[in-house]
Amino acid sequence: MHDSILPVETYLRSKKKDFKVQEHHHPSSARVAIGDKIVCGVGGCLRAQYWNWMGVEPTNPINLNGLHNVTIGHAYEDWYEEGLKILGKEYQREVAFKADIGLKYQMSGRIDFLVKEDNGWEGVELKTSYGRGMDYYKKTKKPKESYLLQMLCYFEYLEKPIKVFHNPVFARDNFYRTTFKIEKGKTEYTFKQIVASWRELEGFLERKELPPRDFNDKDYQCRYCAYKNKCNKEVRK
Ligand code: SF4
Repeated sequence: MHDSILPVETYLRSKKKDFKVQEHHHPSSARVAIGDKIVCGVGGCLRAQYWNWMGVEPTNPINLNGLHNVTIGHAYEDWYEEGLKILGKEYQREVAFKADIGLKYQMSGRIDFLVKEDNGWEGVELKTSYGRGMDYYKKTKKPKESYLLQMLCYFEYLEKPIKVFHNPVFARDNFYRTTFKIEKGKTEYTFKQIVASWRELEGFLERKELPPRDFNDKDYQCRYCAYKNKCNKEVRK
């Protein structure tokens, strides 16, 4: 019998990137620690970053659901680009950068879009979400803190001086849409705090010392962590 789902899943699996050992600090793994409060996205936990840098293969790599999510995110970027073309906007897509941030290792990243507006270039970071993730936006009317940190990294090191970032968010389940504007210098966290966390990570790497857990099993960071099984084993040792 013809498996009608197979072509889609074959395509998505072909998009899956092989595990790559981290060689630069990435904005997506930006982390801030203020007292007991730790803010970072999935993959930003010190321990998860440590294993990645040390070349440890994830015990819980991205699955087919995750691949669907990533690919829908890319489709959303395609729609955005088509819209920019229709509007006749000058823009750049997937703008890569690498920067010396005063640490042993550099920071590198890729910005979804830079768009030329009347007052100069502005950044765009698109995100998709669903369910409870979307409820967070509706309730707080704020961008997710992990994405905010990501954009703080971009502000600092782009060749074009960017003062504003836009963060459109699209719900994959009910198509709810919203957008946030982030202005340089008007955020709760600073790039300096991010660098301090990466400095701490470099210390653990230098000493080959496993960092403590940033989160516990109930936190969403652990539920989606690529090292969940490995980390839980360490706890039980
Ligand atoms: S399971 Fe949680 S504490 Fe452990 S590495 Fe992953 S995010 Fe960090």
